[in-house]
This record gives sequence, C-alpha cells and structure tokens, in this order.
Amino acid sequence: MSKLLHTALSEVAAVRPDSPAVVMGSEHISYAELDEASSRLANALRHRGCEPGDRVALLLRKSPEAIVALAGVLKAGCAYVPLDPQSPASRLSAVVESSRPAALIGHSATADTVGRLAPGCLVGMMDGAEGATSGLGYDEWRSAPAGPLHAIDPSELAYVMYTSGSTGQPKGVPITHANATHFVDWAVGHYGLAAGDRNSSHPPLHFDLSVLDVFGTLGTGGTLHLVPPEANLLPASIGGLIAEQQLTQWFSVPSILTYIAKHDAIPQGGYPSLRRVLACGEVLPTATLIYWMERVPHARFSNLYGPTETTVASSFHDVVDIPADATSAVPIGRPLPGEELLVMTADMEPAATGEIGDLFIAGAGLSPGYWEDPAKTKAAFVPDGNDPGRTIYRTGDLASVDENGVHHFHGRSDTQIKSRGYRIELGDIETALSGLDYLLNAVVVPVRDDTFGSVSVSCAYIPRPGQEVSPTRIRRDLHPILPSYMIPTGWREFVSFPTNRNGKIDRPAIQNTIEGGPISA
Ligand code: AMP
Repeated sequence: MSKLLHTALSEVAAVRPDSPAVVMGSEHISYAELDEASSRLANALRHRGCEPGDRVALLLRKSPEAIVALAGVLKAGCAYVPLDPQSPASRLSAVVESSRPAALIGHSATADTVGRLAPGCLVGMMDGAEGATSGLGYDEWRSAPAGPLHAIDPSELAYVMYTSGSTGQPKGVPITHANATHFVDWAVGHYGLAAGDRNSSHPPLHFDLSVLDVFGTLGTGGTLHLVPPEANLLPASIGGLIAEQQLTQWFSVPSILTYIAKHDAIPQGGYPSLRRVLACGEVLPTATLIYWMERVPHARFSNLYGPTETTVASSFHDVVDIPADATSAVPIGRPLPGEELLVMTADMEPAATGEIGDLFIAGAGLSPGYWEDPAKTKAAFVPDGNDPGRTIYRTGDLASVDENGVHHFHGRSDTQIKSRGYRIELGDIETALSGLDYLLNAVVVPVRDDTFGSVSVSCAYIPRPGQEVSPTRIRRDLHPILPSYMIPTGWREFVSFPTNRNGKIDRPAIQNTIEGGPISA
C-alpha cells in the first residue's frame, strides 16, 4: 500500500524522537510527543465511534495541539475539516451541516463557539477547556492507547476544505491522501525540504497552502514554526519572526510579501538563514518579487499556482534572475509532473501559442469533485473532449502558454477574486447583501488595494425609499453572516445604478466611480 499523508511523520518520530516538531512562541512539542499524542487521539476517536471515511471537524486556533489534532484525525482514518475560528456562527453551522462530521474538536480558545454550534455529534477537546465535561475530554484521549491503527487506502479522503460559493453557501472540496501526497512529495523533492529546516506555517489551517507547511515539514524532520495570526498586523513582526527563528523556508500568499515590501521591512542581506521563499494563491506582483530578491539574494524564489480543487498547486515557476522589468508579469510556469495545464478556446480546442484561453487542469491533483454537490461538480469537473475517459477541471482562470511551454496568468473569466490571498466569490457577498431589506439593490466590485498589491471589495448600494442607510449599518448587519475578510471596505450610495447598452448594471462604470479604480488582470 502506498503512502498516506501522515505516514512519514511516524517514521521521522522513530529516528529523531527528541527533535522539535512544532514551535509557536515559547510552546513546542517534539516528534515523539506529537506522534504519541496524535496516536492516542486517533485511538480515542475510533473508540468513540469515528470510522474510517468519517469527517472530523476542527475548530482550533493555530497551535501545537491543532497539529496534534490534524495528525490524530488522519491516523484514525478520518478526513479533517478545518473550520475558520474567525467565521461567523451561521457560516460555521453551514459547513458543519454540509460535512456532517462524526466529531467536532475544539479547545479553550474556541470552546464557547463549539458549545454554541452544538452539532449533535461527538465533541472533543484538545485541552482541559472549562465546561467540556461531556464528550471526549482531554484526560480521556490522553490516556487512550498509543498503538498504531490499520492503514486506509490512499484513495480515501484526507481533508475537506470549504471555499466561498457564488450562491452564499460555502463549497466543500474533498482531497484524497493520494492527491495530497502527490503534491507534497513533489514539493519536498523539488524544493529540497529536509531535517534541519525551520519552515514557516503562515496560512491558516483552513487554507490548503498549510498542507505543504505541515506535512512537508513533519514528513522530513524539519521544525514547523507556527506564525500567530496577530503577527500579520505588523510587517516588522513577521520579519522579526523570520530573523529570530532563523527560518529556512517562508511560504505564503504574495499579499504578505508585498505588505513587507511596501513597508521596506527587510534589511539588505536580511534573513541570512532563509533558503526558500515560496509564493502561491494569487498574482505575485513583480515589484514585490524584485524587492525580495534584491534584499534576500541568497534565497531561492518560486511562484506556485493552483486552486484548492487540484490540491495546493499544479504549476510552478522558479525565478532564477531578478526580473529586469517590473511591469512584466511573473509567469505561473510549468505543470507539476503528473499534472497538465490545458489552455482551451471557447470551442474547447487547444489555444494557439500566446493565445489567451480558459485554463483547465488534469492529473494527479484533481479532487474527486465538490462535496455532495453533483451539479457544481458536473459544471466544473468536465470530460476532456480530446481524451475520452479523462476528467479536467475548469479553473475559471484565463491563461496563455508561450513557445517555451511556460504558462501566464491573465485574470478570471468570472467574478471570483483574491483579496489579500482570500478566495472570494463576489456573489457570496451579494447574496448576503440581498438579505438586508432596507436595501433596494447592492452590488460589489473589486478595486485595487495598494497596501497589499491585491484587490479589495467595494459596495455600491441603493437604499429603499425612506430608509436611513450608512456603511456602518450595513457592516454591522453583514458581520453575523460573512467572515470579516469578505466585508466590503469601500462604500458608495447611489440613487440608481448606471446601466450598459444591454440594460445590465454597468459594473466597470461603478468601479470607476469608486476610489482605487478598476483592477486590470
Ligand atoms: P484557492 O483555491 O484559494 O487556492 O484559489 C485559487 C485561485 O487563486 C486560482 O484559480 C487563481 O485564480 C488564483 N491563483 C492561485 N495561484 C496564483 C498565482 N500564482 N498567480 C495568479 N493567480 C493565482
């Protein structure tokens, strides 16, 4: 039987039990501690009725015990469903209802929300959280046996991650062990992750970039340095963390790299220990890349591209030389071995060299399809007309391929955006706005966000006659429905919306009236 996502962790623990596996501030756990604790949790989950193939939802702040929980769920043969502790309760409930977990695991920092969610399944606690007397308590799982469990097949699910859905319902993306190990094994080999590495864990655990951080590091004997979410508020604290902890790998969305660059937070020759800077998840601005390459000339830089649906990333571009021209875009590169990027015309024919077309992805990273949503799956996971029997995933991205086989990104063909690395369907926000009965109409448009070199969301709204409407009121009413990163940051009241020749709302005209102006792909 081939490998599972967590197999290498126990192998590493057997040979370097005392090495630090996970560090966060003054907290740290060794490989032996992580391996033993996760095995105990796995056995306890199985004893309490969780079966292979079940989902186990995790409502955990980033912490060493959250990593124990990820590994424990996988060792139990279950798939983890990482919930965003910052999400409003209504959204968390929607994800819990959709994923139907056999257990929900929390800890002190999330115990209140876990209690309010009351999903009607086993509730487990990673620490001695107050009030967690029923369910699977800390003392119970800590005294469960630490013996190994029967392995499952790599075609079983490792995790289900939820992304923004255009109709206001989050979409579940299930990923198998085989999908995930294909990506992680490639990245480990290609970037040379090894024992002795000190790798960042910047993205939250409900964002799939974390899969490389966690399993790439723990499968190779490195140390995972969890970046507390608070560090994001100050570029200097992220820089301080890279320097003080002598990180050898930094992996994040480009917005964070831009934020640090805009604040000129890196001293010349800074971060002497840093060997790799990997970016993924949104456009990597060339000016940001140039800044980093000049300030950290000893590091290797790579731009990875891919959607959650094809497992973290499906293509990569290693940047060898500092780009000479800050206005030419950084390519998204070539596909990973075992994966294919197909640029197609509207007639589903391969696009000519240099021609912009719809980007499809095929190969080992492809999710089996959206979680229990055959209609959405059918729309996005389509048969390959040129290779019967093969499924290809419609990314919604526009791309071209040059004469060297290198791919270039040209924006989206729909209204999905990336704002500071967060994937947002604008329809998700508009669905929430449509529920506010004091608005006659409201649309949201993306506008440039110079601080992060990214995109932010602005809202144009028309109040119902006689209604006193302010951005503060709308914001207050959106907070219980949307995660804060989806709440618009720019606002403009209209009496009526401009329309185009077809009588449709003229979104570009609205964008133009809002500060920041339209974004170009
Ligand atoms: P997510 O599922 O959150 O990883 O978002 C996937 C989407 O992010 C892709 O379909 C692209 O639109 C965008 N994306 C990911 N990586 C890159 C990249 N390197 N350059 C440009 N866009 C990217």
